[in-house]
Amino acid sequence: MTPYQTVLARIEAAAAAAGRDPAAVRLIAVSKTFEAGALLPVIEAGQRIFGENRVQEAMRKWPPLQQRFPGLELHLIGPLQTNKARDAVAFFDVIHTLDRASLAAEIAKQIARSGGLGSPRLLIQVNTGREPQKAGVMPDETDAFLDLCRTRHGLAIEGLMCIPPVEDDPAPHFALLAEMTRRNGLKQLSMGMSADFETAIAAGATYVRVGSAIFGAR
Ligand SMILES: *Cc1c(COP(=O)(O)O)cnc(C)c1O
Repeated sequence: MTPYQTVLARIEAAAAAAGRDPAAVRLIAVSKTFEAGALLPVIEAGQRIFGENRVQEAMRKWPPLQQRFPGLELHLIGPLQTNKARDAVAFFDVIHTLDRASLAAEIAKQIARSGGLGSPRLLIQVNTGREPQKAGVMPDETDAFLDLCRTRHGLAIEGLMCIPPVEDDPAPHFALLAEMTRRNGLKQLSMGMSADFETAIAAGATYVRVGSAIFGAR
């Protein structure tokens, strides 16, 4: 089995162990820093959802591959600067890192300006570990932020995303995010990376973001 196939098998086993439908867990293959040569075998093996951290890197790398492989879905999983919102809205299918009011306003403006051409699905990043240096809305401010996105800016938010502190047991962070998602009637739960995606699936993840387990060390 290739590393990619191994990850797929592990996702399926984790979903089964949790009594969940494996189809309810989607793999985002995190391709940041890897070039087309490394990505092609995984695309040819059938993977269609990819995650990138940087707007410019993604916009340089993916258009030729999108020409060759229709139906690719690109997710922005890294922090988004307000001045790149226009490009991100036009380019990405899903943005996982909406985390502040100014960005919500700018994304809404760019969606309106695009006349419906760019309308990414949106997730709010939550700073479940309350780490000062990390992006994300604080847990106790998330419900209010969600309300602001919906009512003031008319944004349809699909779910929540988190990156637990590296030194912590991720399980309580995943449980917190799952609870917030349920409480707010949201559908998507983006959590789990190479080191902890099985734990995330047990807690209800609908998107796992896996890079190094598929492509190797960066
Ligand atoms: C890089 C990255 C990942 C993938 O990390 P791996 O440990 O390589 O699986 C997932 N999510 C985010 C937000 C990332 O920046």
